[in-house]
Amino acid sequence: MQTNHPRLVILGAAESGVGAALLGKQQGWDVFVSDGGKIKDNFRETLLQKDIEFEEGAHSIDKILNAACVVKSPGISDKTAIMKQVRESGIEVCSEIEFGFRYKGDSKIIAITGSNGKSTTTKLTYHLLKQADYDVAMVGNIGYSFARQIAEQPCKWYVMEVSSFQLDDIHQFRPDVAVLLNITPDHLDRYDYSFDNYVASKFRITRNQNTADYFIVNRDDKAIEEYLATHTIHAKIIYFTMNENNIEDEGGMNKHNMRDEGGYINNERLYIAFGGEYMDMSIHDLTLPGKHNQYNSMAAGISARVAGVRKEKIRESFGGFEGLEHRLEFVATVRGVDFINDSKATNVNSVWYALESMKKPTILILGGQDKGNDYSEILELVKEKVKVIVCLGLDNTPIHDFFGNVTETIVDTKSAVEAVHAAYLFAEKGDVVLLSPACASFDLFKNFEDRGQQFKEAVKEL
Ligand code: ADP
Repeated sequence: MQTNHPRLVILGAAESGVGAALLGKQQGWDVFVSDGGKIKDNFRETLLQKDIEFEEGAHSIDKILNAACVVKSPGISDKTAIMKQVRESGIEVCSEIEFGFRYKGDSKIIAITGSNGKSTTTKLTYHLLKQADYDVAMVGNIGYSFARQIAEQPCKWYVMEVSSFQLDDIHQFRPDVAVLLNITPDHLDRYDYSFDNYVASKFRITRNQNTADYFIVNRDDKAIEEYLATHTIHAKIIYFTMNENNIEDEGGMNKHNMRDEGGYINNERLYIAFGGEYMDMSIHDLTLPGKHNQYNSMAAGISARVAGVRKEKIRESFGGFEGLEHRLEFVATVRGVDFINDSKATNVNSVWYALESMKKPTILILGGQDKGNDYSEILELVKEKVKVIVCLGLDNTPIHDFFGNVTETIVDTKSAVEAVHAAYLFAEKGDVVLLSPACASFDLFKNFEDRGQQFKEAVKEL
């Protein structure tokens, strides 16, 4: 049907696509949603209810190439036939956060990206603002999409988890506060197998920022350090670090003294300096385990301070924060053996942090769909802490090849139940069984949540 409204075509009908559709419709666009696969029932229901035209199972090119703007869901690669045609046609392509940005009014955005820790830091930052009674929503991969939140329940503040895919098609998107947690290899298949491309994509989070905005970055990350050494950032940079040498670094990057502004950990205390105020607390009062969560806490704490939350409130709220499911989640102790579900650890770096935080001899459940992992990063920790590797995947060759001479025992399993039983068989009182797979889950499970859920159920059946 031809209308006088500009045509908005949305590719992909999951949370971000449907969110963009709702917002587009509300803002007077002539909206058409096209999904090459099957649309989930709840999303189809929403589209029907709101009278939004859609198709599934195929892309009708004639209904797409007449768009004024195409919103591409983050899961769709530029290598797909449909995206090649869209790009060739010259139609404007934007991501859902870009589309949402145009309608956000004078609300403020804290946008959080990185290879690992996005969800945890987003939830923690949201928690810090919420506890301080801010009018705030958590959007992105957790919670509603940004666009849906704006359409249905606009807020003054948005704490947003942002993936590199979302950043690839931004034009104006400019967060008031941007956070870059870390950059380690992941998703390289979407970046022509170039780490540099992936790094550049992460840094897009700050590209439209200006001197009124803040860019909160991990000072200890190699890839970040290298990029900053050769690129200009327009926002005010605030660093966080655990490296003592970086705390007072007058001659280093940006001649920064973190005692004046920044976050750091020293002698088991976490410090945040901002706006002439200084807060500190024991790292043992943080509820989340592991070094990685200390980084996440610094990033969240600085963001909250920049947003104006008082330091007393931040300190108090840190203590009451519960972590997320499937991230170093304690499941149960069965006859003296602890079971931990870290199913969300889908790359090697997150497994490094999981192992780093293990205090007991560990049976490690590893494997799944390998994204070309280089396991050398965890070699030392495996040597030091891991007794047995239980592989949980269809093809475990890379794990056998790499760890064959490292641990005495490596066994293969093909279901969560089998893996839990095998691990339990090898475990002795005082050991820990850690599911931290370093791989995607799609070979044997629907997704990482399904893998974690099946693992927890299998533990409970023991
Ligand atoms: P993301 O949303 O970026 O995938 P999550 O918070 O869901 O991050 O955590 C994913 C995995 O990475 C979990 O296994 C978690 O324990 C681990 N992790 C969390 N924060 C960090 C960090 N700062 N550095 C490395 N690994 C982390």
